Amino acid sequence: MGCEIGCDPLYDNLRLTKSDIFSAFAFHALICFNSSVYVTLRKFGCKSMFVLRTIFGGEFVSNFAGINFIHRDLKSKEKILFIISHPDDECMFFGPAILNLTICKEKKIFLLCFSYGDYNQKGRQRKQELWQSCSFLGIPESNIFLQKISVLPDDPKRMWNENVIFRIIINYVETFHFDAVVSFDKDGISGHPNHKAIYYGLAHTLANESFPDYCSIYCLDSVNKFRKYSFILDFLFSICFSSNWFILPPSRCYLVKKAMKAHRTQYVWFRKLYIWISRYAYINTFSLLYANEAIFDLNFRGVCD
Ligand SMILES: [Zn+2]
Repeated sequence: MGCEIGCDPLYDNLRLTKSDIFSAFAFHALICFNSSVYVTLRKFGCKSMFVLRTIFGGEFVSNFAGINFIHRDLKSKEKILFIISHPDDECMFFGPAILNLTICKEKKIFLLCFSYGDYNQKGRQRKQELWQSCSFLGIPESNIFLQKISVLPDDPKRMWNENVIFRIIINYVETFHFDAVVSFDKDGISGHPNHKAIYYGLAHTLANESFPDYCSIYCLDSVNKFRKYSFILDFLFSICFSSNWFILPPSRCYLVKKAMKAHRTQYVWFRKLYIWISRYAYINTFSLLYANEAIFDLNFRGVCD
């Protein structure tokens, strides 16, 4: 395959033929087509993921999608911080998990509440109510951290600054060396913006790779309305589709109701009804939050919400 004398092999290689030009056009068209298919599939994937997560819960979908198969069980953690937005979230949503964990003497359970629940100017009473509720749930007074931060008011119309949440959480985790933090998922169970803001604050910590690797983040699964108000009937579905589930024994169910009743300023008819028929008074399921999922939710929250 030698070259004749006087011929420049480099020039010979660079000369474009008709088939080269055709290939370049075809390749360019293929890239454009793939890009548009990719964007469409990504949007479709996001919507599908949202529907599947709503039905089955985040961890099931993450495992099914092959995002991560590492199993890290919340029940094996020793020092756990529950993070809530308002006094009463601890019993309205997290009661079964807190009661199942505080009964184990070797575990240390803490609660961080980001507001006094001052929306109706009853912050001082609500602080007392939180302390009383926690006494029924088994959380010692010394393990309760109640924050009052002017930029994080109890207000469904005000968006909380996720960077402020992010810094406060990191500070607590590094100071106390928690091996797990537990909070809301991206739908915040009731859809309250203050609940969702905590999730996105946690997602930022993972996305920025600033969260200590000795600590895992677990999010309470938001379920559809049918499951949400299905009393204890959701237990089969819950234990099948989540590895981090907590079911309250019948002998201890009254404690969640007592804790809710301690919130006298909030104990109106619909909350009385809620605490009887809501799945969250009997069952909790959690999903481990992974960095790739956190980044996905931060990037697509406009599309999926
Ligand atoms: Zn709340």
